[in-house]
Amino acid sequence: MFLAMSAPKAENLTWHIGEVDKDVRASAYGHRGAVLWFTGLSGSGKSTIGHRVERMLVERGAFAYVLDGDNIRHGLNSDLGFAPEERAENIRRIGEVARLFADAGGLVLSAFISPYRKDRDRVRGLMGPGEFVEVFVDTPLEICEARDPKGLYKKARAGEISSFTGLDAPYEAPASPEVHLETEHLSVDEAAGLVVRYLDEQHILGES
Ligand code: ADP
Repeated sequence: MFLAMSAPKAENLTWHIGEVDKDVRASAYGHRGAVLWFTGLSGSGKSTIGHRVERMLVERGAFAYVLDGDNIRHGLNSDLGFAPEERAENIRRIGEVARLFADAGGLVLSAFISPYRKDRDRVRGLMGPGEFVEVFVDTPLEICEARDPKGLYKKARAGEISSFTGLDAPYEAPASPEVHLETEHLSVDEAAGLVVRYLDEQHILGES
């Protein structure tokens, strides 16, 4: 089974400390490493806003990269489905990848529904203080369903998809996200701008 949730199976492992620490990386790249964890219902706008933020950051010269849900399911997580334990493992692996990117000094944006608070908090727990930025893309179900960019709600309502978040699978909203985007009242640019503003305010960007 894939559920490597606890201690490593292998013995005699040593964590090698490199010669370049976070501060050195931050002054080389002009920003700190962090994980921007977008969470919200399917069609809420995680991917659209995440990619806009990525573009804004890269245009400022930052090392930023979106980890997109479907893309990861094609590769790294192609063995996982949508049962609760598989969703948990999906998020655990993505969290580990995100942590590596952030450790390398990058601004990694993840755009996964990540419906369970426990799973998101586990990823938060992997990161150092201030390195996990939870972005709640808060869009009411009715609006997500009206947008239905991938036609998934239609399929789910027709009974072709089961365990669909928001319909017959739960979504646990973040209790205190670092950034809360109510996309009903925001354009994509405005929403992305709020995320970048948060990074500026927290001195994650512009560190030298
Ligand atoms: P998710 O990644 O959360 O599943 P997507 O980003 O794929 O969602 O889809 C969101 C859809 O909603 C896109 O078609 C996008 O153009 C549309 N949309 C309309 N208004 C907004 C907004 N204010 N913010 C984000 N997306 C919006």
